[in-house]
Amino acid sequence: MLHPYGKGPPCTSMHLNAVAKRVDKPRPLIPMNATLESLRQAAKNCKACDLWRTGTQTVFGGGAAHPKIMFVGEQPGNQEDLEGKPFVGPAGKLLDSALEEAGIDRSKTYVTNAVKHFKWEPRGKRRIHKKPNAAEINACRPWLDAEISVLKPHVIVCLGATAAQALLGRDFRVTQRRGELIKSTLAPYIMATVHPSSILRAPDEETRHAEMQRFIEDLRAVKKFV
Ligand code: SF4
Repeated sequence: MLHPYGKGPPCTSMHLNAVAKRVDKPRPLIPMNATLESLRQAAKNCKACDLWRTGTQTVFGGGAAHPKIMFVGEQPGNQEDLEGKPFVGPAGKLLDSALEEAGIDRSKTYVTNAVKHFKWEPRGKRRIHKKPNAAEINACRPWLDAEISVLKPHVIVCLGATAAQALLGRDFRVTQRRGELIKSTLAPYIMATVHPSSILRAPDEETRHAEMQRFIEDLRAVKKFV
């Protein structure tokens, strides 16, 4: 069998598998001695999974340069994809309101996502959010790790199951451990709560109000870190 690049010794199937793994799963190019800005610039060219093909642009995290609190959501939505900024759409506006109610200044926090390109499927003329799969979350993980490593937040708040399972393990259940401050090697504490978009999807006004109050209570638990 020929070498996949057309030169060198014949390949064994084991070698081909190793090459395929490297070709199929390129790693993001994390700069040496990274700063937040060098990470943001490098992430613009990331092609470590196929989502760069469908997203308009990489939506990197944003916020304070030395945040005590880092919020991690799932992935950018339609508006975030178009503007290139995280949490600027309806869920972001709800997060802003909840932070204000909890007495946390968003400008003193940092907000990012587990996956940095918008995954969507067409429905008529609309682009509908599609949940990223495990391979996409894993492919994007080096960017999140690099953000955490540069920013060194005191607490990471996972917004929703995707972020929680990325940082706390696949068996983690937000429904069972929501609002708990969990010691971690990534930051002194990690806490998981719901994604604000789940509050927007509440079936009626009463449920939405109750869910919002619970979300605000979760945020109050990390206010002491600001
Ligand atoms: S989603 Fe993440 S890993 Fe995939 S191309 Fe975008 S930045 Fe790279």
